[in-house]
Amino acid sequence: MKPTRIFLAIFLVAICALNTNAQERSAAKPVKAVKFGKLWDAKGKLWTNAIVIVEGDRIRNVTTDASAIPPGAEVIDLSKYTGLPGLIDVHTHMTIYTDETPGVPMLKQLTSNPPAVELFLARKGAMRTLESGVTTVRDLGADQYLDIAMRDLINRGEMTGPRMFVCGYGLYITNTPYKPGLNPPAGGVADGVAEVLRVVRQQIAAGADLIKMYASTGTDDDVTGFETYSYEEIKAAVDAAHQFGKKIAIHSYGPDGARDAVRAGTDSLEHATDMDDATIHEMAKRGTFYVPTIDHNRYYLDNWQKIGYASGFQEKTKAFIERNLETARKAHKAGVKFAMGSDAIYTMFGENTRELGWFVKAGMTPEQALRTATTNAAELLGKEKELGAVAPGYFADLVAVEGDPLADINVAINNVRWVMKAGAVVADKTKDRGH
Ligand SMILES: [Zn+2]
Repeated sequence: MKPTRIFLAIFLVAICALNTNAQERSAAKPVKAVKFGKLWDAKGKLWTNAIVIVEGDRIRNVTTDASAIPPGAEVIDLSKYTGLPGLIDVHTHMTIYTDETPGVPMLKQLTSNPPAVELFLARKGAMRTLESGVTTVRDLGADQYLDIAMRDLINRGEMTGPRMFVCGYGLYITNTPYKPGLNPPAGGVADGVAEVLRVVRQQIAAGADLIKMYASTGTDDDVTGFETYSYEEIKAAVDAAHQFGKKIAIHSYGPDGARDAVRAGTDSLEHATDMDDATIHEMAKRGTFYVPTIDHNRYYLDNWQKIGYASGFQEKTKAFIERNLETARKAHKAGVKFAMGSDAIYTMFGENTRELGWFVKAGMTPEQALRTATTNAAELLGKEKELGAVAPGYFADLVAVEGDPLADINVAINNVRWVMKAGAVVADKTKDRGH
């Protein structure tokens, strides 16, 4: 090679190296330093003057040392507030959002809105959910796989909302009368072990993250709790889900479905009022999560006319709430693990964390209540190494509240001022103050 060529080669190599450096720089993840006056990290530590270093969508470090802030980092000063991990709601119906269109009861909207309209409207509920500090949800029942579409749109950044773990259709027994002509089963309908296996496998094939089964009556303004599936059918659903590495959530309003769901090995039990002591003891022993969803009946009572329920259910629903709370009290005392689930539906989004108030009424400390929406919920999702805590390697899901949530749970419920999901600020009311 001639000297000029050698020079040219060196020159080209140098240019390439510069280019690579430039590419690395532009591909580098943005770094943010979020300062909190106090920080409850859900790892057993209450920090004073904490700095959370965020790189891309993850937490790189938590420190009190300001010199650890990398040069060029965007500093977000929330020193007036207490930081919490992004909260997790393990029982929602994100796609069954309805607005308050005057004169149109929500039940009627549900049957008249085309699926595309439903999914478009759902973005509002998703936003309200984020604003309440909830950055992750487990969604327990949708039609036409709208939940899978919504999860994927959010993950692609096309829709703003909490990270979703979804179940597709929940399994339920035949509950419609015979009609002349063809009677194809609706999505989710499964009678007998063989059909249970088929429908579980259908949800997994559709891309569901987990399985949901309705093992008793009771929904909306109906608070009956008759067991709908046999133990064998429930066991088949649990085993089929577990065989594919999926968890299962089982709905039971009453004690019989609860007993069989727990014995069959469900991962979580939803609603479950009037549970007997043996079932509660079994849940504590097995580590079955209890998701009592006490607050959703409060929401139904407050909004029954807008939803379109006929009057006459109020007394039995009030009595159900009392029994639901009493069952939660017993279960907490017995050492059962809880996860926070709102059962948010219709216009309830944004009220997702009110359930925490009921947990404190059931005997929890505010810190124990916060665990149900952080570490416990993350464990139920199987995501305890990346969700539900503020620690290195976890998703940068952070919430700033005004006040001390460990002294008063209402601070976590009502005073959310700022929310970050996966490193991006998704709600910010810190500048609204004083207006
Ligand atoms: Zn539900």
